[in-house]
Amino acid sequence: MDKNKSIVVMGAGLAGLSCAYELAKAGKKVTVIEKWEDVGGLARTIKVNGFSFDTGPHRWYTKNDMVNNWMLQLMKSEITKVPRLTRIYFDNKFFHYPIQIKSTIKGMGLVKTFWAVVDYLMVRSLSFFHKAEPVTIEEGYISQFGRTLYEMFFKRYTEKLWGRSCREISADWLGQRSRGFNISTVIKNALFSKEKVVSFVDEFSYPQKGIGRLAQKLAQGVKEAKGTLYLNSEIIKINHRAGKISSVTVKSGKKLWEIKGEEFVSTIAVSDLINGLMPPVPGAVAKFNNRLKYRDEVQVVLFINKTRVTPDTWVYVHALDIPFVRFMEMDNWSNKLTPKGKTAIVFEIVCNYGDKVWNMPDKRLADLVSEKFISSFKLIKKENIIGWHIHRVPKEYPVYHIGYRKDLEVIKSYLGRFSNLQIAGRNGIFRYNNMDHSIEMGLYAAWNILEGSRNFNIESVNIDREYLEEKKVVLRAPELPEDQYVQEYKN
Ligand SMILES: Cc1cc2nc3c(=O)[nH]c(=O)nc-3n(C[C@H](O)[C@H](O)[C@H](O)COP(=O)(O)OP(=O)(O)OC[C@H]3O[C@@H](n4cnc5c(N)ncnc54)[C@H](O)[C@@H]3O)c2cc1C
Repeated sequence: MDKNKSIVVMGAGLAGLSCAYELAKAGKKVTVIEKWEDVGGLARTIKVNGFSFDTGPHRWYTKNDMVNNWMLQLMKSEITKVPRLTRIYFDNKFFHYPIQIKSTIKGMGLVKTFWAVVDYLMVRSLSFFHKAEPVTIEEGYISQFGRTLYEMFFKRYTEKLWGRSCREISADWLGQRSRGFNISTVIKNALFSKEKVVSFVDEFSYPQKGIGRLAQKLAQGVKEAKGTLYLNSEIIKINHRAGKISSVTVKSGKKLWEIKGEEFVSTIAVSDLINGLMPPVPGAVAKFNNRLKYRDEVQVVLFINKTRVTPDTWVYVHALDIPFVRFMEMDNWSNKLTPKGKTAIVFEIVCNYGDKVWNMPDKRLADLVSEKFISSFKLIKKENIIGWHIHRVPKEYPVYHIGYRKDLEVIKSYLGRFSNLQIAGRNGIFRYNNMDHSIEMGLYAAWNILEGSRNFNIESVNIDREYLEEKKVVLRAPELPEDQYVQEYKN
């Protein structure tokens, strides 16, 4: 590859930054363009009035040793282990999550437990005779848990999260969210503590100063290796000619400018990429693109003059009369995030960009959340709240509508014509990625550029097969020669 080839990375989330980091370290000329004022995308840590808080609960847990070692080499002693306690708040009671047999039976009572068992056995016996892949998320949950447990623990929350019926969401989401999680793993987990399902881990890694440190360290590495990072710079056009992307048009404040490149990695939402292509995409592709939807979120952070208001790392809130779906208490993640004797709780209200909740004035949102939290949970009083902060996060979740895979196929096959473009990341390829997946995708994109090939298959990351087969991954031992290391990860 031409040593001076310039590479443009679109988006400074974990996918874009891990890609840029590898390229810059290898001496390549790399430019990262980010529309927000800070790096990290969906995994940021914000600091206000001495309180640091994350944009939603982000635990680091991966089954991929290579990505884990890569992260540990980057973060070194900043990483700590956090014990996890997660509960569901449902019918004014707390249930452990993942479901624990004893507490569930206690909370449900014997009659409901009996019906849950009958339901589950019925589903299992029927599936023995009639094996059908679940299409909707409702079918997926019922096949794993039976109807009683589905209605108790999953239906309400899932519909609150997505703002639509569980019959309108593809079962793929369930596959990616809780792989291998069903009644038999719940039982195995209760009996044998070494159960490996990701949803069950009761300890996880976390940077002591907040999840945003991952992106900050990567950005620092990019800059130290003479890469360029533009913040507050939105890509509004992606210009192409003769089967290649030639440049991106960027808007910073009132200024419009163009950045040329020879290789492009896009981690911005695939639908925005398609909309920005110039000349525009054919009408048929635009039609499929318009079907891609996202769920957005308003986050309300309360600053509290008490410490450890809850014992939980995070709590899922199923009750429909409470606006937030989840809250996390920062003090239970690290004691380096909030001032001594104080804590911060982040509440997530899922909504659609531009709707009533999204547009609600900040003060009203803060009042709404404070009142509901005080009256429902009775853990603090009004005078304990010493401040608040609101931030809005667009495109938090790609929505897997029924048939989304076909729509995506059309879009991705259209993008396949650009020989110098790779797409990666959560919204970048429209897949429900965790951080490790986005990082892995970013690394693959970088290695493909370094090799002048497309041997690392970004599309293969975060598909069920990897987890179900308990894929063996080779450790990236520091002394391992680069070639051998790269070799292990080829298709
Ligand atoms: C509430 C929540 C909780 C989560 N919890 C966990 C967890 O516990 N564990 C875990 O591993 N993962 C978790 N995740 C997932 C994790 O946050 C993501 O997988 C990861 O951060 C995605 O990184 P990315 O780089 O792929 O995408 P993003 O973070 O979305 O990065 C894309 C970047 O591109 C920028 N961009 C977009 N459009 C443009 C444009 N036109 N011009 C310039 N820049 C642009 C964006 O601003 C953004 O910075 C969670 C996600 C959410 C939302």
